[in-house]
Amino acid sequence: MRLVNPENVSERQRTRCRLNDPLDTTPYSGVVSKPLATSSASASAPSEPVITEGKQRRKQSRRGTETRLGLVRRARRMNRTLAQAFPEVRCELDFTNPLELAVATILSAQCTDKRVNEVTPALFERYRTARDYAEANRTELEEFIRPTGFYRNKATSLIGLGQGLVEQFDGEVPHTLEQLVKLPGVGRKTANVILGNAFDVPGLTVDTHFSRLVRRWRWTAETDPVKIEFAVAELVEKREWTLLSHRVIFHGRRVCHSRRPACGVCVLARDCPSYGEGPTDFKEAAALVRGPETEHLLALAREGAS
Ligand code: SF4
Repeated sequence: MRLVNPENVSERQRTRCRLNDPLDTTPYSGVVSKPLATSSASASAPSEPVITEGKQRRKQSRRGTETRLGLVRRARRMNRTLAQAFPEVRCELDFTNPLELAVATILSAQCTDKRVNEVTPALFERYRTARDYAEANRTELEEFIRPTGFYRNKATSLIGLGQGLVEQFDGEVPHTLEQLVKLPGVGRKTANVILGNAFDVPGLTVDTHFSRLVRRWRWTAETDPVKIEFAVAELVEKREWTLLSHRVIFHGRRVCHSRRPACGVCVLARDCPSYGEGPTDFKEAAALVRGPETEHLLALAREGAS
């Protein structure tokens, strides 16, 4: 057996060894993981740390040095970090059965979940079965759902959904993607929401937040939702798909906003090639965080930076 002097091992050889080690989670980018750095100023003011690691990763990513394996590891690591940030994720639409979830998801297009949840209690009280929607009086149905916007199109979808369910599935919501997407008003996104949340079948929900974030993270460069879904499906374990979708959407709603992402307090800063798109100053970024998890998220940010 030939013994190798570690002094003589090149960086390239070291990298190869890392790639062959399934327990090594060090990214291939050549950047060695290290705690989030703090500036000297922040050392005396721990409540206002400055994160610098993401910039380094961003440069690496721009140079295109990340391998496929590195990307898979980074994506899974980011999913685990999000799981710590959002341990209680769930579908934010209120429902008690698959039909209600299908209806609520159709209503959520171009509308907030909060607004949908304000409308659905009365709607679900009045329309209890697929046949109720199939035989609905359009004017009455439109009045129920008017606050969710685009109510004429949505009424058409709900009536079509009811008719499709009655005619093709005996009034029951099917639980395969192929069957669901045959229903009027049900695309892949809605189908995956129903599968993941009503039937526990793993599904990726590619909405506007999901699309924006996975492209910011350079998980994919695709812009078409179906291609994004397929690309992400290859990165993250299938059993994680539904929860990952919720985590990404939660993160998009609370931290990684479209215009001003809260980079300075983001738990993903180390692994995000877009770190710096939003304010990196702690206080400025903290003011951008939304939602009931704000204190928890800021505590994690301080912890990661200490
Ligand atoms: S908030 Fe900033 S660092 Fe965090 S995921 Fe979004 S772009 Fe990346």
